[in-house]
Amino acid sequence: MTRASFLVRTIAVAAVVAISGVGGRAAAVAPLKIVATTTDLAALAREVGGDKVTVTALAAGRQDPHQVEAKPSFIGLVSQADLLIAVGRELEIGWLPVLQTNSRNPKVQVGASGYLDASLNVKILEIPTGQLTRAMGDVHPQGNPHYWLDPNNGRLIAQSIRAKLQELMPADRAYFDQRYADFDKRLAVAEKRWDAALAPYKGTKLVTYHRSWPNFMERWGLDVIGYVEPRPGIPAPPSHIIELVAEMKRQGAKIIVVEPYWSPKTPESIAGRAEGRVLVLAPSVGGAEGVTDYIGLFDYDVTHLADALKQTTGR
Ligand SMILES: [Zn+2]
Repeated sequence: MTRASFLVRTIAVAAVVAISGVGGRAAAVAPLKIVATTTDLAALAREVGGDKVTVTALAAGRQDPHQVEAKPSFIGLVSQADLLIAVGRELEIGWLPVLQTNSRNPKVQVGASGYLDASLNVKILEIPTGQLTRAMGDVHPQGNPHYWLDPNNGRLIAQSIRAKLQELMPADRAYFDQRYADFDKRLAVAEKRWDAALAPYKGTKLVTYHRSWPNFMERWGLDVIGYVEPRPGIPAPPSHIIELVAEMKRQGAKIIVVEPYWSPKTPESIAGRAEGRVLVLAPSVGGAEGVTDYIGLFDYDVTHLADALKQTTGR
């Protein structure tokens, strides 16, 4: 190598280092750290946030979201978060406030700009009208918190996330608009598929374990006639089971939808006596094998429910 060519190469390398240094700084705007209480909110945040965010879910998809242990590792996650997204409606009342307090992170306290209650812009069912206390055992005192199980509510949650990300990262406004529009388009295509699969079963009566499914069932015109739990969060006494079996027989309900975190023992016994069957569906992303995103959640549930309805109704 001549001295001249060595010099040229050295300058060229220096130039590349300088350019990538500048580019590196631009690209190194740290992604926004999002912590979502559930896998569903995390999945929607990933749809909208893309590579401008990192997203961690606290509760696992197979876990009862009312009953999550406030682990020390969660405090660390919340303390580092730029944005905390919660289901709200007191779903996380037993475990989230303690994490927020112990995180000592002012950004994610209720009312701060890094806290998003995803329930504020969606359709909420079963809002209680009478006097209700938690002592009565009802874990849904502010209406049904399982509202993400209607895909249109998923769309509305994604809109709230988009607005929040645009507020926190105004320079990326167009990026979040584009991510949302892409998700909205894919969701609309999928909704046509789900509507078609469940259309033959409108008005079919069924039973669910917990009141996790009112938004889902209303969306597709299915009629829930009873629950394994007499009230949300309260286990069934024998008298309730006898009444439920009789009601299922009288109304011809053949399916009991059960969340993966309940023991199948009681529902199996009820289904056996009512000549029906138990169907385990995924109430959340990660709630069944292969369910890794929000649209995949409904693909799984709609397919499995339609199969079971086909077998039990003969339609
Ligand atoms: Zn519940």
